[in-house]
Amino acid sequence: LKENNARQIWHPMAHPADSQANPPDIITEGEGVEITDVDGHRMIDAVGGLWNVNLGYSCAPVKAAISAQLEKLPYYSIFRGTSNDNVIELGWMLQQFFAEDGLTRAFYTSGGSDSVEIALRLARQYHKVRGEGGRVKYLSLKKGYHGTHTLGASVNGNANFRTQYEPLMPGCFHIPAPYPYRNPFNETDPARLAQLCLAALEDEIAFQGAETIAAFIMEPVLGAGGVIPPHESFMPGVREICDRHGILLIADEVITAFGRTGDWSGSRHWGVKPDLMCTAKAITNGYFPFGAVMVSEKVAEVFENDKTGKGAIGSGYTYSGHPVGAAAAIACLQETERLQVKDNAAARGTQVYDGLLALQAKYDIIGDVRGGHGLMSAIELVSDRTAKTPLDKGAIARIHRATYEDGVMVRVSGPNLILSPPLVLTSAHVDKILSALDTGLSAA
Ligand code: PMP
Repeated sequence: LKENNARQIWHPMAHPADSQANPPDIITEGEGVEITDVDGHRMIDAVGGLWNVNLGYSCAPVKAAISAQLEKLPYYSIFRGTSNDNVIELGWMLQQFFAEDGLTRAFYTSGGSDSVEIALRLARQYHKVRGEGGRVKYLSLKKGYHGTHTLGASVNGNANFRTQYEPLMPGCFHIPAPYPYRNPFNETDPARLAQLCLAALEDEIAFQGAETIAAFIMEPVLGAGGVIPPHESFMPGVREICDRHGILLIADEVITAFGRTGDWSGSRHWGVKPDLMCTAKAITNGYFPFGAVMVSEKVAEVFENDKTGKGAIGSGYTYSGHPVGAAAAIACLQETERLQVKDNAAARGTQVYDGLLALQAKYDIIGDVRGGHGLMSAIELVSDRTAKTPLDKGAIARIHRATYEDGVMVRVSGPNLILSPPLVLTSAHVDKILSALDTGLSAA
């Protein structure tokens, strides 16, 4: 398997030569919060799949729902108004889930990149329907990650995911992220930095002309960019600026929705109601590819009351509203709610964050510790704390390997080690994750 893996497969987000040089680990089983590799090595999955396996790997009701649906109706499209019973029930559940966020309609997709693509398209269309067709540009944050479709890549704020594919969509502009550890203002105070980033947003809007901008898209807590929670004043500030200029606010909650941040949505943490919300990942926990864009009343009203025909949606995927995906989502949301996983995410998230701070006191190579909002945290590794020089790849690989050998899978993303374990893990699991990281760090 390892040899064929190197010869036959190109892996996402990897250099093809890398898997030939270092055969990656092949995961063959998952149970609870643990995974097992092809060599029989069992470990805690502190990555939670890819930030999505909130309920762990043995969620019996989800498996049963998928099997039952496969027997009943494995597939039918929901194009042009045709429907299936599951998507209708799921729409109702999502409405309940996000009632507090003011989001009442669901547009189904097949994953996170698709949700981002649809939300960005709907934002432009919203303005066209309202007779403001000049609003076509998008604003976003540097360090933001919004998937790999061309619109999403265009609003992505990480050069690694953009440069090979340029020219991307014109009309996409980025402002500095509220990332106290590194920012162009050299401002380490989170509250002051938030104000500077908001001022940069105002400045960009004035420069572009508000009447040319369709939407601002952001993650309530930046995920792939290295887990960067903004200061509490930031997202409300963005909301206020967007409202003042008639710009839609899209919350990319592909990671943050459904409990990961310790609440049902990341936006709710900051008391913000977005106009559109992208979801995917934990909606089906990895049991089936699926996603949904949640739409606010404000946006829904414009499309639903349109008499010109401009509100007809010209976007959708063969697998939008897949009945098996919807069955998986219904079961996942029932479990998510029944177990109130957000509460455990909040409690265990604090335990992880405190543990990482304790490790920082022990290891100079931990330059920054981020988290504290549920179960998404990161440590940023440096070779010199004062100069903030990123730790070299070899040392990071050694930490990763030693942590793995000690029984915990973590995620490497640039100079960051990222933790986003299943939300159902116990306090003992967290202790084990921290002790394996300790082993890993001592290996560097
Ligand atoms: N948006 C965010 C915030 C994400 O983290 C991701 C995936 N990590 C995506 C979009 C893209 O989702 P997918 O990989 O399911 O296409």
